Amino acid sequence: MRIKFWGVRGSIPTPGKNTVRYGGNTPCIEVRPDKETLLILDAGTGLSILGDELMQLKQRIEAHILLSHTHWDHIQGLPFFYPAMDERNTFTITGSNYKDVSLQSILSNQMQAAYFPLQFDELKANIHFRSIQEESFSIGPATIESMYVNHPGHALGFRITCNGKSLVYISDNEPFKPEHSDSVLNKVEKSVVDLYKRQEGDPNSRIVRFAGGADIFIHDATFTPGEYEHKKMWGHADYLFAVRMAVEARIKKLVLFHHSRHHSDNDIDRILEKCRQELQNHSYQPECIAAAEGLELSL
Ligand SMILES: [Zn+2]
Repeated sequence: MRIKFWGVRGSIPTPGKNTVRYGGNTPCIEVRPDKETLLILDAGTGLSILGDELMQLKQRIEAHILLSHTHWDHIQGLPFFYPAMDERNTFTITGSNYKDVSLQSILSNQMQAAYFPLQFDELKANIHFRSIQEESFSIGPATIESMYVNHPGHALGFRITCNGKSLVYISDNEPFKPEHSDSVLNKVEKSVVDLYKRQEGDPNSRIVRFAGGADIFIHDATFTPGEYEHKKMWGHADYLFAVRMAVEARIKKLVLFHHSRHHSDNDIDRILEKCRQELQNHSYQPECIAAAEGLELSL
């Protein structure tokens, strides 16, 4: 399996001299379980650059786009994804509906004339939609599992397994704390809150079980612990939570992801160092790196 990061920043694109090393585009990861199969995790602004690269190959493109959720930072690359304008190409977009609004409607709506010059029904590629919840399915040689994580509205995490190797992608996830009041928790879909409340012991053991033994574990590390104290229920984790999940799930490589727009390259260097120091306190010590645009990994 080959993995390449095209966007690693959360919330909003963050260009500028302080983000050139890790990159400023929002979430998009290319995953190739084999030579024929192309999976794309999220359609943030990184997707537009991946699209340009795919066009250079001058080949018919068939790909599956797996959306964690449909907040702006995870879908804004789609209107600028040029391969979607070519009738030879085929895409399947997989993700959750939002309440009674279909995935197709959500994505079409962001291309209404008030927002964008090209409308969704003018895209020439064959585009199919697959609405999912928590389930397991196959794409080519890969098995995909999905799980709801703790994020306003809802968001999915994905586990991709191929040839005995697995990648877990949890881009936006906050530690679930039952003591948060219902008025705070009701930002999250009630059915998702109920899933976590029904979990015996630590509700976050759902994440641990889902990620268990993964070779690569990509997890939200938006905040420092100090920042998180003031950003509860924003739907994101501090980096120590990502480390704790990685240790408890006994994953092999933790990739810090969804970097804050307020964190410079130097800040991310410091966060990475703090995570590595924290891992020294544990008997199980996975490798830890920070996601960067252009980073390639293989399994
Ligand atoms: Zn996000």
